[in-house]
Amino acid sequence: MTNPVAIGIAGVGKIARDQHLPALAANHSFHLIAGASRNATVDGINNYPNVEAMLAAEPSLQAVSLCAPPQVRFAQASAALSAGKHVMLEKPPGASVAEIGALAELALQNQVTLFASWHSRYAPGVEAARAWLASREVKSVHVQWKEDVRRWHPNQEWIWQPGGLGVFDPGINALSIITRILPRTFFLKAAELLVPANRHNPIAANLDFTDAAGTPIRAEFDWRHGPEELWQIDVTTQDGGALRLSQGGKHLEIDGKTVDIGPEREYPNLYERFADLIANGTSDVDVRPLQHVADAMLLGEHKTVEAFVE
Ligand code: NAP
Repeated sequence: MTNPVAIGIAGVGKIARDQHLPALAANHSFHLIAGASRNATVDGINNYPNVEAMLAAEPSLQAVSLCAPPQVRFAQASAALSAGKHVMLEKPPGASVAEIGALAELALQNQVTLFASWHSRYAPGVEAARAWLASREVKSVHVQWKEDVRRWHPNQEWIWQPGGLGVFDPGINALSIITRILPRTFFLKAAELLVPANRHNPIAANLDFTDAAGTPIRAEFDWRHGPEELWQIDVTTQDGGALRLSQGGKHLEIDGKTVDIGPEREYPNLYERFADLIANGTSDVDVRPLQHVADAMLLGEHKTVEAFVE
């Protein structure tokens, strides 16, 4: 058996504590040795105020997992890649599409792995949905990704700031799934962005995509929904079939019947994938979900809605 990869984690906040730390603790391919966070520390490892200090003090580090908000992703990732470390990026992989190309170049130059992770793609229903759709003609797609922003992003100011994506922060999870399961490349035709009077980013968005066959693909993202979230994708096919991926990909129904898809293991699967990429000397960088968000910002018609107060 090979030695575990010495890994550091940066940006110890909600997702690092909820998912990354437990997934790393259970994965024997990695050994967590250091953390980089301005205010938080992780018990039992060496802690530093930022990524640069961690890289300077821990020469045995081989990989870094970046969990801070996207606005600081590029600076942290470029420091780690330039130091010869493998890098895993939380979603979204950056604050702009083009900066991710620059990171991919740095990874190649330094002969290390870059993994732009999309955790929702590792939900248990996604690969089964992809396999079922692969041999069918899609007739229509309807995405509803709706949740209560106060429940899922309490007091997170960064989501409202430039580069924070607003409602596209959860919506991009749906985009990461449909870019994986739909057999054809699709693209945005029109979008409506509903922006609170006192904020920079949309609180809701309605997107109309299509593909070369003219398939209608409608996505509705809304942060004013609750109390239960609705994270659902419905696909109909030309042969009369119907697929429903619900609960963010944890539940799959085909033609009204539940498909047995196994337990939820998104983050354990992400770290298994990262370990495989490192072992094989390859990278996995798919910017399409973020490209669709950028296109929505390009084409979207802005409508001002009621101010959002936390
Ligand atoms: P968060 O808790 O607000 O941020 C994570 C940590 O990043 C913060 O606790 C903070 O730690 C550090 N940080 C914040 N701003 C920073 C800055 N300007 N410079 C350096 N470090 C900074 O956010 P989160 O919910 O964990 O989300 C982080 C990323 O994970 C986002 O890209 C999000 O889309 C993704 N994600 C979140 C969830 C979720 O359920 N929340 C799920 C999946 C993916 P220090 O103050 O200690 O530096």
